[in-house]
Amino acid sequence: MPENTKKELNIKPEEILEIIKDISGQDVYVCYQCGKCTAGCPMSENMDIMPNQIIRLLQIGAFDELLKHNTIWLCASCLTCTSRCPKGVDLARIMEAVRLLLLRQNVAYLNASDIPEEDREELPIQALVGAMRKYSP
Ligand code: SF4
Ligand code: SF4
Repeated sequence: MPENTKKELNIKPEEILEIIKDISGQDVYVCYQCGKCTAGCPMSENMDIMPNQIIRLLQIGAFDELLKHNTIWLCASCLTCTSRCPKGVDLARIMEAVRLLLLRQNVAYLNASDIPEEDREELPIQALVGAMRKYSP
């Protein structure tokens, strides 16, 4: 992590969902946890919690728990989840909103250059392009 990276999120927990909604235009409470997003996600095998679980953690206000996992950073912004959701939840936008919230706070982001070279060869090209766009502060 860069030296200037802060270790704590300087936002009140009750404000986090409001900010995510402002950035993404999405209401996480619309999700009813059917799991169709996760079933279609091409990156789910590499994620340590599933995309629908990200929404669940947001719903219950467990943002600190969310930050312990790699899921938001491995999301390739491919929009598959968004296209599959029967409730019209744009999960790709929510993932992006969480990343933006953290990047704007300079908290807990993964530097693309930290991804081991051998792993880069196995990643889908969408993930690499997404990483260059998303992970640069
Ligand atoms: S597909 Fe939509 S409703 Fe179902 S778990 Fe995913 S985000 Fe929630
Ligand atoms: S946008 Fe992200 S979470 Fe959604 S299907 Fe693609 S990789 Fe998975």
